[in-house]
Amino acid sequence: MADTLHIHNTLSRTKEKFKPLDPSNVRMYVCGPTVYDFAHLGNARPVVVFDLLYRLLKRLYPRVTYVRNITDVDDKIMARAKESGVAIDVITTGTTKAFHDDMAALNALPPDIEPRATAYIAPMIALTQELLDKGHAYVAEGHVLFDVTSMPNYGALSRRTRDELIAGARVEVAPYKKDSADFVLWKPSAADEQGWESPWGRGRPGWHIECSAMARQHLGVTFDIHGGGLDLIFPHHENEIAQSTCAHDGAPLAQYWMHNGFLMVNGEKMSKSLGNFFTVRELLVGAPGEALRLALLASQYRQPLDFTLKALSDARAVLDKWYGALFAAEVEPADSETPSPALDAALLDDLNTPMAIEHMHELANALSRAATPAEQATLKGQLIAAGAALGLLQQDRDAWMKGLLRGTAAEGLIATSIELRHKARKAKNFADADLIRNDLKAQGIELEDAAQGTTWRFRPDLEKLLGGKTVTSTSTSSAASGGDGVQVYRQGIVTALETLVSQLGAKY
Ligand code: AMP
Ligand code: ZN
Repeated sequence: MADTLHIHNTLSRTKEKFKPLDPSNVRMYVCGPTVYDFAHLGNARPVVVFDLLYRLLKRLYPRVTYVRNITDVDDKIMARAKESGVAIDVITTGTTKAFHDDMAALNALPPDIEPRATAYIAPMIALTQELLDKGHAYVAEGHVLFDVTSMPNYGALSRRTRDELIAGARVEVAPYKKDSADFVLWKPSAADEQGWESPWGRGRPGWHIECSAMARQHLGVTFDIHGGGLDLIFPHHENEIAQSTCAHDGAPLAQYWMHNGFLMVNGEKMSKSLGNFFTVRELLVGAPGEALRLALLASQYRQPLDFTLKALSDARAVLDKWYGALFAAEVEPADSETPSPALDAALLDDLNTPMAIEHMHELANALSRAATPAEQATLKGQLIAAGAALGLLQQDRDAWMKGLLRGTAAEGLIATSIELRHKARKAKNFADADLIRNDLKAQGIELEDAAQGTTWRFRPDLEKLLGGKTVTSTSTSSAASGGDGVQVYRQGIVTALETLVSQLGAKY
């Protein structure tokens, strides 16, 4: 199976057969977040896409080393600290924890190694010094700059012309640059700025050198796959290539470069600067992480993907259907480890998730119609295995139905409400029975009456919850403290249920 994995390589602009340098240890580096604020759903797209690839590689090869860094030194972080009065390490620690929690909610496995940039200052200084020694960099006014004219094929990844490279670097135009496309490896820090001693004075690393140094430390000079979002091709990845290749006498940094397309909102990239974003945690109030994940996998990773609340509630409904088919089939699944060949064929073809999802629909439909227990067992096993390959369908009934109300005071209150409704119906007081159903529904709790009794599931109205959101930037103090809306939201539901139960409790 392994020899049939094909991935699109940004370097060649073609789909290529994947051949690892060392099949006994496949090595992958993905650029991680700059930790100054909560992740929005666009930031989660590369995490989920490369998690999918990681899961696939782990099935294909005995060992995979997946490195994803944390950028915890950056001008945006320093600006946040200044404007909020919160210490830098409080911001970065709190934001890192929030990022971990959010990505875990999306079923993204943690990478094998997660280097934090500030713990690698010495290797960054060493790499910068090597570039100076080899004549690929120069010192100017306390800065160390990479000399792009020293690298004949600079720009090969992004395929930018010399004029485009200059235009792209324009933001960094400075009088001390020899060439306007030169970029910073090290820059000086003012006394009140984050900084470290170096041969060029007290300063801090440029963003690009961080990844080159951390990747070398953990994956060696050349590794297999380097990934990130489309916007990282230039300048970030172009510059990582320039630094590493020049320091290593022409040895390539990575064999395959993979880039995910953008998550879009009304035709524009979801981004902090446009303010058109939903943070992962605010969406988690209204929808299970698994629904967010399925929504992110709905398009093939290289394509742009439109985000709407409708798409998210559709993803939740799809999962309800798939889980429903699994829960209804009361047989032990046959092999639930090995996905069907059709599922693997889709994933092996450059992670064709739309095709994989289509196949899961077929499996779920076939499972619902299956005539014999043997057929049910086979299909149930295949659906669970397909789910595992995509990072979906691994929850039990209770967890899936109750979502974030599971294990809270709401559970007992809902059980009491259901009892009260039962008593009201017995007393032929249908107005009270309807009132209870409607009050629960208003909190997103749906009742379902069946022969065995009444069950419930938590399905809040996403449009009602989040549709009216006027987008404001999330505040650092709450990101730093790991604060989230879930607690407050749950408490609101508990309070409403308490009111309902105390109003009707006395009557029945
Ligand atoms: P940033 O915090 O902007 O550096 O982004 C962190 C990661 O998220 C990078 O890999 C970006 O390419 C990726 N990213 C940011 N916005 C989006 C988006 N709207 N869609 C997909 N990926 C994104
Ligand atoms: Zn990077």
